[in-house]
Amino acid sequence: MNTVKFRLTGVIELRELKELGLLPPEERLKKGPVAILECPEQIPCNICVPYCGLKAIKMDKITDIPRVDWDKCTGCGLCVAVCPGLAAFVVDLSRNDYDYVTLPHEFLPVPRLGETVTLLNRRGECVGEGVVVRLWEKNKTRVVTVRVPKGLGLEVRAIWVEKKQ
Ligand code: SF4
Ligand code: SF4
Repeated sequence: MNTVKFRLTGVIELRELKELGLLPPEERLKKGPVAILECPEQIPCNICVPYCGLKAIKMDKITDIPRVDWDKCTGCGLCVAVCPGLAAFVVDLSRNDYDYVTLPHEFLPVPRLGETVTLLNRRGECVGEGVVVRLWEKNKTRVVTVRVPKGLGLEVRAIWVEKKQ
């Protein structure tokens, strides 16, 4: 298992997620919204498991890497809301015009529906602009779905919201 690089940098790369088997296969990605749990650290946490009503997340031990059954997952986003590590995301790469990313947002200001926000990758680097299309909250964690340019669905993992006047 190749876990060395992200442990050194603190930022997991797409290639590493793929090597760890944490990315859904292409065919599943094309079908519609699906969860990606970017959680390879094997920390003692399994909160996402009981919250998934479809039992789509599997862990035998609390220190296992959580594995999503991508055929069961409907991309509801509940795991995004409850993950204390902000490591759960839902991506929808099934549309021809845009990708959609559902992510946790615990910073202020809170974006507004329809607002254009700055898109950040896993390193916190700006990769473009997107539009907030859905916004909800559970346990004080805001869950934001953002429409992003096609091709960025596997890159965008946070948003930056301009302060309102
Ligand atoms: S998105 Fe919903 S169905 Fe999919 S793993 Fe998360 S909680 Fe389960
Ligand atoms: S809730 Fe988050 S941190 Fe905990 S096991 Fe699930 S994905 Fe990992």
